Amino acid sequence: VPVTYWAEYACLPSGVTPSVRLTLDNGRFSAVAAGPPDGATVLRGLTLPGLANGHSHAFHRALRGRTQAGRGSFWTWRDGMYTLAGRLDPASYLNLARATFAEMVLAGVTSVGEFHYLHHAPGGARYPDPNEMGGALLTAATQAGLRITLLDTLYLASTVDGAPPAGPQLRFSDGSPEAWATRVSALRPGPHALVGAAIHSVRAVPAPALREVGELVRRGPSYAENVQKGPFGSGSPVHVHLSEQRGENDACLAIHGVTPAGLLAECGLLGPTTTVVHATHLSEGDVGLLQGSGVCLCPTTERDLADGIGPARALADAGARLCLGSDSQAVIDLFEEARAVELDERLSSEQRGRFDAGELLRAATSAGHTALGWPDAGVLAVGARADLVTVRLDTVRAAGYDDPLTAVLFAGVAGDVTEVVVDGRLTVHEGQHQTVPDVARALRDAITAVWS
Ligand SMILES: [Zn+2]
Repeated sequence: VPVTYWAEYACLPSGVTPSVRLTLDNGRFSAVAAGPPDGATVLRGLTLPGLANGHSHAFHRALRGRTQAGRGSFWTWRDGMYTLAGRLDPASYLNLARATFAEMVLAGVTSVGEFHYLHHAPGGARYPDPNEMGGALLTAATQAGLRITLLDTLYLASTVDGAPPAGPQLRFSDGSPEAWATRVSALRPGPHALVGAAIHSVRAVPAPALREVGELVRRGPSYAENVQKGPFGSGSPVHVHLSEQRGENDACLAIHGVTPAGLLAECGLLGPTTTVVHATHLSEGDVGLLQGSGVCLCPTTERDLADGIGPARALADAGARLCLGSDSQAVIDLFEEARAVELDERLSSEQRGRFDAGELLRAATSAGHTALGWPDAGVLAVGARADLVTVRLDTVRAAGYDDPLTAVLFAGVAGDVTEVVVDGRLTVHEGQHQTVPDVARALRDAITAVWS
């Protein structure tokens, strides 16, 4: 049965438009046009396309409350993350991921890219179903009501020179690219899910294995078949952490004589279906190599972990497609990620107006969905997946803005989201998640259980 919403303002491909009727039929938009409310369900505020969270590690949410005291760096934070990784099992992973994904839905996220490397039991023993942990993430996303692209991650080494994984890293490794590919090919995503491939980093995957994966992802079935057949399709997404830390660059140059981006290019791993994550410490040559690839910036994590500021404008000018991720879940707020792209550029360039509102919105919406293998999402247009995110404009923060989109991007917060529709299903109504009744409590309970 078609359902019609009336948006006070809607962010259409042509720009912010007042008084728009949007008809949803079978999970897609069947009509989008200016018109009066006339019996439609009224959406007060600005209605956006669904937001895409291009890079997430759901379990890191349990660290958020424990990392803001004392001194340190990315590497000391990683010690805490490893401790957490050692404590999770399929049941606690499911509870934590469901609550974290529900927090994302409340923030307007309709697709999440879950970069999943916590595959096996502590010490590396296989679960009876070797995909039990990945399966928990697929279930969590279904229960929380958002689409997921499970980016199942290859992880083989602890250092760039190929030293074997140790300690908590034993849970992450399948031992070889073949074993990883075989395990991942057995995953069966449901109707609102995809499986994609990920390479943890040039630090955790030695160069010969990178070449093997390059071969694998080039000769698989097509994107359309991927829905049934798994991650190794020619149009299927491939994600990889890139140059988050200077140490990774230094080690890669010392051992391989090229930068991490150069090594990925040599191995055939850059291109339109690839998304590199962070891209913080790049040479000018690296920026050029990323033309035509996706780049997922995670500014709130990069600032939280003292990573640095990546060359976002230079990447966009070079033809990289920027999207956004909450990564470590330091916060889950795509508006904060979007404005951080512009505001971090201001700090590094000492100039204002480096990105316009349309570019920031595309990073938060269509570019992110495309990077996750959902190119038909992230736009309010006939035929697209029926995702809607309505954001209040009647807040004290938004008062005084002329343009609703600027208000949301520069003064909006995740808590201003009132309504969320994912693939035609109403998932958040009046700020309340429709299947996880108390998300804060679900988070508290899941996090307490992990640490107790
Ligand atoms: Zn990450």
